[in-house]
Amino acid sequence: MVNILGVPFSTSSFAETIDRLKRAMTEGAAPHHIITANPEIIMIAQEDQTVMRLLHQADIVTPDGIGAVWASQYYGTKLRERVTGAELSEALIAHAEQSGLGVFLLGATPASNRLALERLQQKHPDLRIAGRDGYFQEEQTAEVVEEIRSFGPSLLLVGLGMPRQELFISDHKAELGAAVMIGIGGVIDIFAG
Ligand code: UDP
Repeated sequence: MVNILGVPFSTSSFAETIDRLKRAMTEGAAPHHIITANPEIIMIAQEDQTVMRLLHQADIVTPDGIGAVWASQYYGTKLRERVTGAELSEALIAHAEQSGLGVFLLGATPASNRLALERLQQKHPDLRIAGRDGYFQEEQTAEVVEEIRSFGPSLLLVGLGMPRQELFISDHKAELGAAVMIGIGGVIDIFAG
């Protein structure tokens, strides 16, 4: 771990991070909350205690930006490379397909979410995948959590924007039941193409 501007970054390589998360998914381990921290989040955390607390409560914080990797050399422990949400998601979705594990995509507009599910299903025909859009009211949160829990995903990708996606994961970590949960920002829109 290396602390940069108060943010505790994991010093694991991309390959090491993926290995750990694949194992957690296969073993159905206790939930792992992963935050891929970009420069914007690091700056917000300087002024927002809630965001800094979320970064400290996460199980793994990866550097999603080359700035943190460069800066790390001044902090004694070097970060080796960027680890982005898109790359993590793609590798873990492939693992889920191979291992017969479920994936749930929460977030984006209904159209974008549906298209992302279609595209991923085409690319990974054996994948068990479901999702729903991220434009729900606060009062619907319990219903959304239940929808995810009853599907039983091993991997939960949450794209509600920062910090709402991190708060959602943190607030419902135990109930959601997924071994790996990642806040992925706009990655569902990228999957939708
Ligand atoms: N989003 C959502 N619900 C909301 C607000 C945003 O599902 O209430 C989705 C949005 O459609 C997009 C993703 O969150 O797919 C990321 O949004 P944004 O680019 O604003 O966040 P950032 O990636 O900058 O954290």
